[in-house]
Amino acid sequence: MYRQIKGKDVWHFCTNCSMWPTSDYKESESPTPGELCNECKSKKKSGECR
Ligand SMILES: [Zn+2]
Repeated sequence: MYRQIKGKDVWHFCTNCSMWPTSDYKESESPTPGELCNECKSKKKSGECR
């Protein structure tokens, strides 16, 4: 599941991301075209994405 803070273009997909939205966000299984969070991407790369 992906989350995006309302009004922002960046999608997060790691619940342990320091920027993971916990309020005022929208959720999607398939994010619309937009940016993916760099922190989430690097966590995934190093196997730390939760
Ligand atoms: Zn993120």
